[in-house]
Amino acid sequence: MDLYHLTIHEAADSLQKGDISSGELTHAVLDRIVAVDNDVRAYLTLMPEAALEQASRADTKLVAWRKNGRREELPALLGIPLAIKDIICVQGAPTTCGSRILEDFHSPFNATVVDKLLHCGAVIVGKTNTDEFAMGSSTENSAFFTTHNPWDLARVPGGSSGGSAAAVAADEAFGAFGSDTGGSVRLPASFCGIVGMKPTYGRISRYGLVAFASSLDQIGPFGKDVTDCALLLQAVSGYDPKDSNSINAPVPNYAAELSKGVKGLRVGIPGEFFVEGLEPEVEKIVREAIDTLAALGMDVKEISLPHTEYGVPTYYLIAPAEASANLARYDGVRYGYAAPDATDMWDGFFRSRAQGFGQEVKRRIMLGTYALSAGYYDAYYLKAQKVRTLIKQDFERAFEEVDVIVTPTSPFVAFKIGEKIENPLQMYLSDVFTITLNLAGLGGMSVPCGFVDGLPVGMQILGGPLAEDIVLRVGYAYEQATGWHLLHPPC
Ligand code: GLN
Repeated sequence: MDLYHLTIHEAADSLQKGDISSGELTHAVLDRIVAVDNDVRAYLTLMPEAALEQASRADTKLVAWRKNGRREELPALLGIPLAIKDIICVQGAPTTCGSRILEDFHSPFNATVVDKLLHCGAVIVGKTNTDEFAMGSSTENSAFFTTHNPWDLARVPGGSSGGSAAAVAADEAFGAFGSDTGGSVRLPASFCGIVGMKPTYGRISRYGLVAFASSLDQIGPFGKDVTDCALLLQAVSGYDPKDSNSINAPVPNYAAELSKGVKGLRVGIPGEFFVEGLEPEVEKIVREAIDTLAALGMDVKEISLPHTEYGVPTYYLIAPAEASANLARYDGVRYGYAAPDATDMWDGFFRSRAQGFGQEVKRRIMLGTYALSAGYYDAYYLKAQKVRTLIKQDFERAFEEVDVIVTPTSPFVAFKIGEKIENPLQMYLSDVFTITLNLAGLGGMSVPCGFVDGLPVGMQILGGPLAEDIVLRVGYAYEQATGWHLLHPPC
């Protein structure tokens, strides 16, 4: 078998046995990138020298560990090549956020997740493509190029973390990290046929994640299967004094929890997610997946999340409002692009922003500024905050009755490049099933559950606060019973 096909847990096993080296794994991934990335276009930046150096350090550690009688347990990610969405800072590397305005910005520091990964001995291969400032559902809003779906190169990989998802699906990395503000990990995971998780808000530090909408942003892992997702989550979770919203609670051993089984766990099926707009083939596949969960011994219940339909409008007031404040820092002075033709300070602000930001980012800044302005604040922003509370309460009530909630991740499978880009509202509706979870601050995961015309479908599993262990358990039981994760894209 080609080395790049391995999962993280398989590769870690072989590394520890001494059957392969991290150098070999890293070369396998770099060669794979050369072979397929001209078509897939998952990466914005590759860091082969740094990656090979990290691999060689991991190999030295592995050799010493074997010599010393394998005394301590090694981190699962030691020597494993990973990819990082280009909105997460890696010291010395470009962090463009998919934007012209940060095209030449090199981060002077590591995000906490990156520090944690390097501390585990992981290998960082490169930075992956994203919609500009993570605003989008397809990577078509990247200022540089669109990433292609490895299952069908004419289609989008989903977004905004489409580069990370496509890289993992096409075996151009063993795992990856993205960010999820309204669905940007789960949607591309679903479109690319891999596992992607958005953990509870605060489970993972946001330090070094360039801010889009701070009350919604959360970093999340992509894996080829649920076990890999658990290992990736484990490595980066936990309290960080540099992010005051990170949660100070113990991190369970997620991988050890996986095989506990799901018998007797209660799963809620919200009627509001099985409505018009959901493609009938997708619905059929997700309903079959729910039958599989029932066959595994889960107790299936109909539930209601009555404010679901307000999710998209609420999100599109709160997220742009926060974005309009967060993106004020790009003024052509402190960060990134500065218009060369500016005549004075004010002209410099206007020109740098006008030339540096793309259309979708400008749309969000205008929407957000409008929603926050005097006279409109109460009618839009404040109202949206109140509806956000109602959405949160829907989930609180539901999780009194059930342990997890299962829905489709998206109403449809990956769409064609160009199909929705002219119609922002259509694009926004891609996230109709993922957005409410961010508004509620909870965690969820997309797991592959079948195909429509050769394109992957994702099942979304949602949990209560810090219930990632239960979400992973359900995903693992499903995966073991079905095996959709074992299929590879044609590229
Ligand atoms: N597609 C949504 C948006 O455009 C969500 C993006 C995200 O989760 N980063 O805002």
